[in-house]
Amino acid sequence: MFIYQDFCLKPYTTFGIAVEASRYVAITSLKDLQELYAGDELSKKLVMVLGGGSNILFTQRYEGLILACQILGKEILKETDDEILIKVGGGEHWPSFVNEMVKKGYGGIENLSLIPGKVGAAPIQNIGAYGVEVKEVFESLEAFELKTGKIKKFTKIECEFGYRSSIFKTTDKGKYFITHVTFRLSKKPKLNLSYAPLKEAFAGRNENEISIKEVSEAVIQIRNSKLPDPDQLKNAGSFFKNPVVVEKTAQKLKESYPNIPVYPQSDGKVKLAAGWLIEQCGWKGKKVGAAGVHDKQALVIVNYGDASGEEILALANDIRKSVQKQFGIKLEPEVNII
Ligand SMILES: Cc1cc2nc3c(=O)[nH]c(=O)nc-3n(C[C@H](O)[C@H](O)[C@H](O)COP(=O)(O)OP(=O)(O)OC[C@H]3O[C@@H](n4cnc5c(N)ncnc54)[C@H](O)[C@@H]3O)c2cc1C
Repeated sequence: MFIYQDFCLKPYTTFGIAVEASRYVAITSLKDLQELYAGDELSKKLVMVLGGGSNILFTQRYEGLILACQILGKEILKETDDEILIKVGGGEHWPSFVNEMVKKGYGGIENLSLIPGKVGAAPIQNIGAYGVEVKEVFESLEAFELKTGKIKKFTKIECEFGYRSSIFKTTDKGKYFITHVTFRLSKKPKLNLSYAPLKEAFAGRNENEISIKEVSEAVIQIRNSKLPDPDQLKNAGSFFKNPVVVEKTAQKLKESYPNIPVYPQSDGKVKLAAGWLIEQCGWKGKKVGAAGVHDKQALVIVNYGDASGEEILALANDIRKSVQKQFGIKLEPEVNII
């Protein structure tokens, strides 16, 4: 295990921001964490975990130790005629894992195809797309508590999953290194084609004849047509969460803006489309220096070249201000700002 000094993070986040971390180390096993803990590197110092860097914006040099999660491995813990329980290393590449499971016919995560990042980060914000959230297949996770060196197992309830949220993004933010995640996948999958573009893609087809491979391929096709590929255009996906408001607020907005998309939730609240609000404020396709708002999806902020993290954040703050001014709605960042 080698600790790098003044380590450039540019290739390690999908925003491609040229900042350094004062120290950086690749973690390939639980033993690595235990060694660092024994060497007093974790308990009293500034540390953070980095996965694939696809949901993170560094706005300045990181004056601490970055633990890059590279724990690999997959183990089937239990298998029946109906399902499998599979434990996966936090450093496994999420899209490759989904692809492998889909090929084997294990369903439940096909709608989450092509979401960038690593397995260990998937529970952090309860990743979701096309009507499915990872909590639906989540069984448990194992995490190393950085300040105490203790290993803890979290059940689904303990993770307190919500919309793009979990305990690891709220009360326990930054406290744990997630080493492994266990998923319950189905051998007799039930498809979720509730999301409009998927419904359209399979219109006229008998659902019993559609395979999870076809669903995965459709999701990949839709994502490629809508979202910029970070390998070509630096970005971190949706910069903001879709705001969830009380029904009265949504109704008032509907009176002033009859076209506003509203999505009633099971708890009586209403989800609004942050991208629509941003677009109405005139931001779609706008560039400010090397930072900008994507021209196809206003929810995505893009680094067109060598934008600094501060420039990206300044643009995000201007967007928030104008949405607040026009609609009275406070946008919350989905991206982790460091
Ligand atoms: C083009 C694009 C499209 C996207 N689409 C979606 C989408 O459809 N749905 C969605 O939900 N998200 C989406 N995202 C966001 C992102 O892919 C997910 O949030 C993903 O789970 C982040 O994984 P990561 O490994 O890159 O995490 P990172 O960005 O490295 O880290 C994110 C946060 O998790 C923490 N963290 C990471 N790994 C660990 C670990 N092992 N233990 C403890 N803490 C950890 C970090 O400290 C940080 O706070 C998209 C991003 C991009 C670039």
